Amino acid sequence: MIRIHKHGHHGILLPDFDLGLDISGASAKHIFISHAHADHVPSNRNLSVYATPATAALMRVRGFKGEITQLPFHQTISLGDSNVTFFPAGHILGSAMTYIETPQGSVLYTGDYRYPASPASEGFFCPEKVDYFITEATFSLPLYRWKSQETLFDQIRDFVRESKQFNQVPVFLTYTLGKAQEVMMALEPLKIPLQVHDGAYGLCKVYEEFGLNIGVYSKINLDTVNNSIVIIPMSYLSSATMLEIPNIRTAYCSGWSDLESRKSYSSVDKHLSISDHIDFFELIDLCKRLNPKHVFITHTPNPEVVSHYLSNLGIASSPLDSTGFDD
Ligand SMILES: [Zn+2]
Ligand SMILES: [Zn+2]
Repeated sequence: MIRIHKHGHHGILLPDFDLGLDISGASAKHIFISHAHADHVPSNRNLSVYATPATAALMRVRGFKGEITQLPFHQTISLGDSNVTFFPAGHILGSAMTYIETPQGSVLYTGDYRYPASPASEGFFCPEKVDYFITEATFSLPLYRWKSQETLFDQIRDFVRESKQFNQVPVFLTYTLGKAQEVMMALEPLKIPLQVHDGAYGLCKVYEEFGLNIGVYSKINLDTVNNSIVIIPMSYLSSATMLEIPNIRTAYCSGWSDLESRKSYSSVDKHLSISDHIDFFELIDLCKRLNPKHVFITHTPNPEVVSHYLSNLGIASSPLDSTGFDD
């Protein structure tokens, strides 16, 4: 019997092994953090946790004060009855899937992941055999199918060329961690200076430290902005600084459908479907390949749609709720 419980909004607890995955409190002795996005990092900033070296560096930039034991990818740590290994999750720099081998079977917790991997990450690796697969399913409807990275990178560069033709300043609206740096990688060959939001600047430095080429960039500077490309979070668009640039053209980078983003952001000029999560079909394919005893679906608005497709493949699944799963 293996016990897997949901803990708090995002976390997972394996109480028999004293393991916590992306949990916020001190309810487990050993806490593993999948990646540095705010919804996965403990709100208690003084906790002792395990993370990959890149995740540790990104967490520090974002103000995490607790002790971080660095566990590089593919290295296994033994903790009593369990062995724990991080594998690259392809979501953002440092993002890891957590693989736990126990006498009751193996568990793979994806955290957030993307396969094929984001070019601004360490790639993607998945073990051959998994008994219990805990997967996020952010884009859990069959309307989500991503374009290839090549096509998306072309769209990013085309948007800049179009903007420059009309003497407009291209502005990409993205999350500051992950997608911003991916957009910067796509823009690098254009050799046009990039200007990023303050919150992204320190994170960009970490990407460089870990060997990614994200081009030449600075913080936002109104004196030179006309010859630059701007990358900011959506929330910064209405800031006093941005309002001083009269001739902007905006591209909103998000996996959410055109329709949904148009509903919320009718003011953007272009929508680019760039996501740092797996799409619906990639998710189903991966489950098929792993063929686990049970799939737990988390982080999703539509678990029943995923379950329906999995049951057609003969794979048992359920959303992971706070009552947990005892098998
Ligand atoms: Zn994430
Ligand atoms: Zn997340």
